[in-house]
Amino acid sequence: MGLLSTPKRKVGCAALVGAAVVLVQVWLLSTPNPGVYRRFSVCSLCGLNRSTVDYQVPATRWTLSSSREDTESPYSAAYLQANGPPHEHDFVLVSSRGNGVYCGLGEGRPLRGAADQPERAELLGFVLGYEDDPELQRVYAEKLLVIPSAPALTPESRKPLEGQTRPSVLGPLDKEIAQFGFEADVDGQVIAFDHGLKAFLDARARRQTQ
Ligand SMILES: [Zn+2]
Repeated sequence: MGLLSTPKRKVGCAALVGAAVVLVQVWLLSTPNPGVYRRFSVCSLCGLNRSTVDYQVPATRWTLSSSREDTESPYSAAYLQANGPPHEHDFVLVSSRGNGVYCGLGEGRPLRGAADQPERAELLGFVLGYEDDPELQRVYAEKLLVIPSAPALTPESRKPLEGQTRPSVLGPLDKEIAQFGFEADVDGQVIAFDHGLKAFLDARARRQTQ
């Protein structure tokens, strides 16, 4: 019996290998660029775009080599031009595809959209040019890209309202940062709107130490 079973086993193995080869061929034919995995990401602070290509063993995440390319967004160009605070880039995935992934979506999609808005880039340049306190500059740099909407910067909003000193665009901007950047309650948002980000942060710090 043992002598007869050996050829049968060989035939069985050959059939399995053949089936596996066919499956891999079908997968390779149905997958665009097998082994090439592309990732698009954006820095959550300065809005720099990064495109990474990983050359992987097909159907695995085993990366053999990688290449990457950084491209400026309107926001990152404004950050650079306004000499924004130095930072370690924090790249967040926007999307990915290739090597078995057809359309991977990441948390960085809204950030990518915000970084592409020229209005937001202009606002960043204006705020970093106006505010000279390094600590506040850092808060603006960290939060302005992540808030869902940025107030419009107009010739009028660059000027203070009557009886005030800071540009009027900062009221809605500081409120937005307090609300979405620090999850402030209504009282905190009112402080930020009326008195500015510094007053809000000071009040917040006082509450935390009580
Ligand atoms: Zn960055």
